[in-house]
Amino acid sequence: MSAKFTVLTMVIVLARRQSTVLLGLALLLLTTLTAAQPLQRTELDEDQVQTLYSAYPPLPALDPHYSAGSSPPALLSPILIPRIPGSTNSTAVQNHIVNHFTRLGEGWTLIKDHFTAPVPEYGGLSGSLNFTNLIFKLAPPDSDDDISAKYLTLVAHYDSKVAPHGFIGATDSAVPCAILMYLAEAVTAASRRRWKNDPFSARDELGLQIIFMDGEEAMVKWSTKDSLYGARHLAERWESETRAYPHGRFSEIQNIDLFVLLDLLGADSPTVPCFFGLTAWACRQLAAAEALVRKIGIAKSKVKTNFVNPTNLMTNAFIDDDHMPFLRKGTPVLHVIPVPFPVTWHTLEDNAKNLDLDVIHDWSIFVTTWVAGYLGLGEFV
Ligand SMILES: [Zn+2]
Repeated sequence: MSAKFTVLTMVIVLARRQSTVLLGLALLLLTTLTAAQPLQRTELDEDQVQTLYSAYPPLPALDPHYSAGSSPPALLSPILIPRIPGSTNSTAVQNHIVNHFTRLGEGWTLIKDHFTAPVPEYGGLSGSLNFTNLIFKLAPPDSDDDISAKYLTLVAHYDSKVAPHGFIGATDSAVPCAILMYLAEAVTAASRRRWKNDPFSARDELGLQIIFMDGEEAMVKWSTKDSLYGARHLAERWESETRAYPHGRFSEIQNIDLFVLLDLLGADSPTVPCFFGLTAWACRQLAAAEALVRKIGIAKSKVKTNFVNPTNLMTNAFIDDDHMPFLRKGTPVLHVIPVPFPVTWHTLEDNAKNLDLDVIHDWSIFVTTWVAGYLGLGEFV
């Protein structure tokens, strides 16, 4: 938008001061640049979906039993350990995530959001604890990050509950984290091709950021102070952190185009409603991506009803989760969480054994198909 305006201004200036030859050249440039603009937020077509998944099959990397030291590298199994905030296991999982994005290479940048917060007494510990949110941004190396830039923001929490002892939280939220790692890999090459072929990409209005949130779970008992440590901290931080633009200072939280939170995914027969009228459009797009993938026969799960049900608008439901600190500050949210929750929720049974491999495979493709379309990657996959 801003680039088009600049060229148009140039045309007017040239028309007044220079010859008609220059005017003609400028008009040609304007036409070329306008024609070269990729379509954004469009659905992938059937061929594009096929191409994407033959290049990036979600398995075996998302198989919970796939060995950690294998090639291609396992994404899910290294997360299936207790990972209480501040623990050595938590650091190991952080390293696993960071190493994955390091492997993906150019275009990804990492912001480590370290902070300390007071926690109630638990397991003989009290006082404060260290937390770390990991934020990965994908943008062209020379992106000018102007005022119109927004980030599609995908979120899952990587911490696990303190109790019961040995709790793994396979659906809560090891699987959602692994799906986001897979998605990042599946969109990186297409994004780079778009940057190379699209003259506007350096001034891209829409980027991608993926947040692995820490401290979602309560340490002792869920309350406003004992839960959502990472999300509360980051929402506050991004509301107060501002950047100077030609038209004034704007906060980081205003740059979130849509906050998409994945939680409790990986168990069989999920049914996900839409929770917010404001983002029902996004819910419908995700449902359409699922329908397309099922239609062309890539989905593995056999279901009576699709995972995402856009006709079930559950606007009176209240689920406290990492989206709430952002929602309260005005951020639009799509909450991808099944209702009812998996039967294993917050028990030791929320483990690898009770995951459904077909469902994990399908969620990863449904979400990635939708996101690739949202980012305008269709012709670049
Ligand atoms: Zn939980």
